[in-house]
Amino acid sequence: MKKYDICIIGGGIIGASIARELAKYDINLVILEANARVAMETSAGNSGLVHGGFDPTPGRLNARLNVAGKLRYEDWIKEMEFPYLRIDSTIVAFTAEEMEHVHMLYERGLTNGLEAKEMEIIDAKELQKREPNISKEAIGALVCNSSIAVDPVELTKTLFTNAIRNKAELKVNSKVIDIKKSKDGYEIKTSKGEVINSKFVINVAGHYADVISKMAGHPDFNLVTKRGEYRILEKTEAGIVNSVVFMVPTIHGKGVIVAPMLNGHVLVGPTAEDNVPKDETRLVTQKQFDFIGEIGKKLIPSINMNKTCMTLSGSRPIEPTENDFWIKPAKGDDHFISVAGMKSPAIASAPAIADYVIGLVEKVEKLNKKKDWNPIEKTILPLS
Ligand SMILES: Cc1cc2nc3c(=O)[nH]c(=O)nc-3n(C[C@H](O)[C@H](O)[C@H](O)COP(=O)(O)OP(=O)(O)OC[C@H]3O[C@@H](n4cnc5c(N)ncnc54)[C@H](O)[C@@H]3O)c2cc1C
Repeated sequence: MKKYDICIIGGGIIGASIARELAKYDINLVILEANARVAMETSAGNSGLVHGGFDPTPGRLNARLNVAGKLRYEDWIKEMEFPYLRIDSTIVAFTAEEMEHVHMLYERGLTNGLEAKEMEIIDAKELQKREPNISKEAIGALVCNSSIAVDPVELTKTLFTNAIRNKAELKVNSKVIDIKKSKDGYEIKTSKGEVINSKFVINVAGHYADVISKMAGHPDFNLVTKRGEYRILEKTEAGIVNSVVFMVPTIHGKGVIVAPMLNGHVLVGPTAEDNVPKDETRLVTQKQFDFIGEIGKKLIPSINMNKTCMTLSGSRPIEPTENDFWIKPAKGDDHFISVAGMKSPAIASAPAIADYVIGLVEKVEKLNKKKDWNPIEKTILPLS
């Protein structure tokens, strides 16, 4: 039986971020992923925005890690080559009530640690100047200039490439089917029939993190789903918006956008559907497809939704009791850490989530840096 110091379960963007940052330490590290490729679940069905950090409720862990994560992206951008674009977020108000929310979000941004120069509130005239296709019914907006668009699938691949360069082992087609406590850690069995032993387990299994935690004897939390569906418009529609144009999040559900994509297409959505089955988190339904058309038209009346060439879907894994990121050691076992409830802004927070998890490991065991850790990853991966 092969022995590891740390086993990460889950090869989405959060597992990749933790693997990349943990690979700087002198440990035997393995990542187990159920699918044949990495980032095929929630990490492949989202808006891909490193949010500015004005939206999360102040005081929550996700508010703190969003702002810290956004700053830490600057290290990743220096060290690794992956597609990204610095782009404004424009949160558009249509009513006086929504305009009040825009002001509230500005204040919330300051409370969360954004600098005043990162945000501005603009009136209808200025909004029309910056976004000429926006609805004439819009009355103003909050603009945040510190967001970054990333391609989460490509970023996941880059992070894993760097982790592997630094001696981490990634095993795909390796669904974890059994976990038992052993005298020096955990015995983990995969669908390939392989059994590995690891001192620490880091459970980053997305929608299945609650299942994995229970499998290991830790029924500490449950997760629920909230599926979001999108339509992707042809490249002919590029230029219809200049920034990521949002509905006011607190009123219309989180993060409804019309946005330019890094590959030249335009993204419209997502919807929000509660409690879909775990194995239907990537479905697109006719009803939501039609509803996305209405969302697009509300923000941008001239948008041609008939130019839909692809659809996309993913679901936010939500821990309903705290409604925050659930990044905790199991009750009674600090060697089993769950990184769950990874709803938005988890991509924005990803580097800070990795730092936070390393902090939890270091509370139990000292980690020593590798002398030859190589943070540089300049392998250029094509956009998918
Ligand atoms: C509609 C939508 C929009 C979003 N927009 C944004 C945004 O703009 N900005 C932002 O910051 N966040 C956003 N998010 C949140 C973000 O997409 C997620 O937080 C992130 O992708 C979660 O990544 P993950 O690695 O935790 O999960 P996943 O990507 O789901 O990865 C978990 C992995 O675990 C694997 N796994 C499961 N069970 C097992 C097992 N038994 N054995 C081995 N492997 C297993 C799965 O196959 C999967 O690959 C959005 C989410 C949604 C749904």
